[in-house]
Amino acid sequence: MLFPGLLSAQKNNSFDILNYDISIQVNDSTDLIFGSNTLSIKFLTLSVDPISLDFIKKDSTEKGMVVSQVIQDGKQVNFQQDTYHLIIDIERPLYGAISAIKIDYAGVPQDGLIISNNKFGDRTFFGDNWPNRASHWFPCIDHPSEKATVSFTIAHPNHYTCVSNGEKKSETRLNSKEVVTAYSSKFELPTKVMVFGLAAFSTDTLSHPENMEHINFVFSQNDISGFKDMSAAADPLQFFDTYIAPYPFEKLYNVQSTTRYGGMENAGCIFYDENAVTGEGSMENLIAHEIAHQWFGNSASEADWPHLWLSEGFATYFTNLHIEHKYGRGKMNEQLIKDRNRVIRFHKMVQLPLKDTVSTNPLNMLNPNAYQRGAWTLHMLRNKIGEDTFWKGVRAYYQAFKYKNATTSDLMRIMQDQTDLDLSQFFHQWIEKTGHPLLSSKLYQGAEKQFLAIEQKQDQLFNFPLEVELKGKHGKSKNMLANISKKQHVIEITADFHIESFLLDPKTKLLFEKTN
Ligand SMILES: [Zn+2]
Repeated sequence: MLFPGLLSAQKNNSFDILNYDISIQVNDSTDLIFGSNTLSIKFLTLSVDPISLDFIKKDSTEKGMVVSQVIQDGKQVNFQQDTYHLIIDIERPLYGAISAIKIDYAGVPQDGLIISNNKFGDRTFFGDNWPNRASHWFPCIDHPSEKATVSFTIAHPNHYTCVSNGEKKSETRLNSKEVVTAYSSKFELPTKVMVFGLAAFSTDTLSHPENMEHINFVFSQNDISGFKDMSAAADPLQFFDTYIAPYPFEKLYNVQSTTRYGGMENAGCIFYDENAVTGEGSMENLIAHEIAHQWFGNSASEADWPHLWLSEGFATYFTNLHIEHKYGRGKMNEQLIKDRNRVIRFHKMVQLPLKDTVSTNPLNMLNPNAYQRGAWTLHMLRNKIGEDTFWKGVRAYYQAFKYKNATTSDLMRIMQDQTDLDLSQFFHQWIEKTGHPLLSSKLYQGAEKQFLAIEQKQDQLFNFPLEVELKGKHGKSKNMLANISKKQHVIEITADFHIESFLLDPKTKLLFEKTN
């Protein structure tokens, strides 16, 4: 897998892509697609060199795209393709001018638009772009920092139903066998979540308090089990709608698909792995995760890959918050313990800071660091600053960056603004440093006094509050709180009973590992 995006696909500050108007024609006899993408580009500097877009050229495998012509504002312009790019000799525009650049192309996608058979042997087409595979099937700046509105106009055999981002604009019969379906998103999206899908679907329309369109799409053979599993979408949608901000897009489709991921949060048109549908109601956490991404990742998007946890850590923690809201704190804590174990296991193999400036391949960042450590960091922040302040901060962060891009510093600044507590050490140790406390604990009991000794065994010391539950005979128990910052603490226990046993972090508030 190649990642040209890491080398070149950063947002180019000399122009801004406002809109992609993408038309694609597909057929059933070959995997060849005919495409046309008209980009609305606003020029932001006087001198603009040839512009370079990400676009994967046809190679020796015979897959990839060949551009036939490029037209700028009605006039043909010169272009060339290298392996990963389309380079266009634009006419030098005026500062602030907007050009329409139409690119016509054709080819068999190497990747990104997956044309295959689903598990029932039926032919399907699904966009699957994460992290930068959109450029296998439409020319773009394939990086989350370059957000744009998008329209898809798909000409396809009429036995498919077409799903895509945004609002469905039209469905027009071309002839007895072909239909053209058009969708348009009026909200700026990152390319990683711009998709369409084609399959023989059955649909189930769910009600929504504000009458927003909420439809579940499953393969016809899976209609009973699929509709049952996907009905779980209503609760997290309503929870996030109420607690974060109104849902950010025109509609919500949940779609059974052939994504390589368990689920892919495509804006307003979420694709779920076809095998996630079981009919046993086991999709709820997956669905909650992908719906949370509509706010965090799709609307408020990470500015670059090191900030991926702003998508994945948030989606993971908001799934946990949904569990807490619906099933109670005990259920959330069960999930947090699983999440913590994943962080601990992963840390034994790879040591990464949450703001991951170490990894160079986004696919390697789909790991328990971005997901579960991200979730745990939000959980500890919530415990540190308190429930109301945490939600105030979440809403302030979302409002500041909805439909925009954010960095980890943006989140830290907004959270710090909500509280008089100094969060700098908290952020430094949990976001910028690697690791977590590795704690040994031992009870010392004399005739009159009892002590608990806590030692941080890891190299870099952490600063954190540690709750300990002390248990005596006949159901006696008491919680104590210790502020740990040094390597070793010996704490005198003020309990009027003999301690029989103790439990560190009884309320599941600390990311730590126990050792002897
Ligand atoms: Zn995710």
